[in-house]
Amino acid sequence: PTLTSNIKSLKKIKTTHIGWLGSLAKEQFWWLLAGTVALALSSAASLVLPTYIGIMIDSVTKNEEDSLNSVVFRLFLIVLVVGIATSFRAYCFQIAGERAVSNLRTTLFNTIIVQEIAFFDNTKTGELLNRLSSDTKALESAVTTNVSMGIRYIVQIIGSVAILFFLSWKLSFVMLAVVPPIVIGAVVYSKYVKNLGKKAQDALAEASDVAEESISNLRTMRSFGRELHHKKQYSNAINVSFQLGKNLAVASGSFNGIMMFSANLAIVLVLWYGGSLIKQGQITIGQLTSFLIYTITLATGFGALSGLWFDILKALGATERVYTLVHRQPLIESKHLVSSYENGTIIEDVQGLIQFDNVEFSYPARKENKVLDGLNLTLRPGQVVALVGESGGGKSTTAALLQRFYDPDEGQITLDGVPITQLDPVWLRHQIGVVSQEPALFATTIKDNISYGRIKYDGGVSFDETSQLDIEQAAKEANAHEFVMKFAQGYDTTVGERGVRLSGGQKQRVAIARAILKDPKILILDEATSALDAESEFLVQQALDRLMTGRTVLIIAHRLSTVKNADCVCVVSKGKVVETGTHDELISVQDGIYKNLVSRQLQHDTNVN
Ligand code: ADP
Repeated sequence: PTLTSNIKSLKKIKTTHIGWLGSLAKEQFWWLLAGTVALALSSAASLVLPTYIGIMIDSVTKNEEDSLNSVVFRLFLIVLVVGIATSFRAYCFQIAGERAVSNLRTTLFNTIIVQEIAFFDNTKTGELLNRLSSDTKALESAVTTNVSMGIRYIVQIIGSVAILFFLSWKLSFVMLAVVPPIVIGAVVYSKYVKNLGKKAQDALAEASDVAEESISNLRTMRSFGRELHHKKQYSNAINVSFQLGKNLAVASGSFNGIMMFSANLAIVLVLWYGGSLIKQGQITIGQLTSFLIYTITLATGFGALSGLWFDILKALGATERVYTLVHRQPLIESKHLVSSYENGTIIEDVQGLIQFDNVEFSYPARKENKVLDGLNLTLRPGQVVALVGESGGGKSTTAALLQRFYDPDEGQITLDGVPITQLDPVWLRHQIGVVSQEPALFATTIKDNISYGRIKYDGGVSFDETSQLDIEQAAKEANAHEFVMKFAQGYDTTVGERGVRLSGGQKQRVAIARAILKDPKILILDEATSALDAESEFLVQQALDRLMTGRTVLIIAHRLSTVKNADCVCVVSKGKVVETGTHDELISVQDGIYKNLVSRQLQHDTNVN
């Protein structure tokens, strides 16, 4: 089942989830213990407070000067203890919470980045970001503050009920008459809110998705002038969440009102019946005052607990979602973050012989669409093989399978005769360099982007600091050095998100330098369909030619010049290789697909010129 469907069907919280929450809490055991001790202290001190207030009032009404001072002094000490214990309690739980959420976020992020590519075809980025930010936040309070506060309020409620009965059982029964309607109200309310809260969460996640997509495609939006469309889309999404929020407001408004009314009603009842008990001399004014304050303590305890209940419900929803994601086993790679190749074999002295053997494949996201249908392909060590053919024929898919972004449904792919499924996936990808038509750079300096390619292996994998000399050497070979030096900050120039601050040709040359540093045995080139200007074109091509020497190269080709220079041309159509040979061989095939492709392109070029 996909993440989405898991989230859509918010199932009942299982004991495993609770157990998992417990294990998260256990990591913060000492902080939670310290917090709980402080909590016990402050709760106990708070509970004796009203008794002392009652004693004090009685000593005033009896005009006992000395005892007033000593009572007030003890009162002061209690207040001090409550203050100190409360601040310590808040600190401990906050720290425990922050630590728990940081750990959880790191674990979650690590799980997300090792998932197989197909997972990302099915999951929206906004959804994952929501998991990382708001769901983990909701969980944080579940394992820490909510639990501790919950315990606190339960102690407060039980404690004050016990004391109330001790003070006057008659008065207690009168006061407790308002409890049953409150409890019924609370149960109904929390059911309603639970449903609504879940819907509101989903609606908000939906809105985040809309925002995420709009902002990340901002350039497209701008160039089509469709800001209004996105504005509407987002405000519609927000409106759904707002409407749900409105219902929540109505529910919470009426519930709070009823709660407040009942609590005050209890006070009125206590005053009424307690007054008559004083008149009869059964209790003192001080006792009635204590009783009143305990009643208020009880009422606030109830109120706070019902508020917490809502948070806990929300957290349990988040728990399920985070739990599912944290425990997801990637279908292709596992234990991906270790720095050695232990998830399969490696080939010591790799030659670069690649064979696709009757490969059949359809994308998990669109099973019914067979993309590769018995593809056979051989790339000999050091050979340059160009894939050509109509768009949608399966060329990029072939390159994706070689990197094991997906696994074939049928047939196999081998490297030096070893099926790539037996190889460590990370090792495999370390042998393959990719330069694509739209190279994605990271929002950091040119230097960092180039040295990103450097991987060292000597028993373990390391990503050592690369020397400036190595970086410049790679940049020179990639024809990038010259333009980099023209920037005021040279190699320390930041390239912006995905490299937006560089031109297309510059980005490609930085990407080539990155690949040169990686020094892979196998190279995948995804050639740009859009032509660069003649100057950049020449520089990029020259850099690529240098990069290609001595490697097995798979090119997804669009340019005639590339195809002409390739050792072997494979025409891919409907998921199969239908023609193989050199340019010269294929061009002489009567009515060949390749011949047609070329003549169409030549015609196009003549039209352009
Ligand atoms: P080419 O590179 O030859 O233009 P592709 O390999 O990119 O062709 O695409 C082959 C087919 O696979 C197309 O029909 C395309 O719609 C489909 N496809 C590509 N990527 C995905 C994906 N991530 N999920 C589902 N279908 C895809």
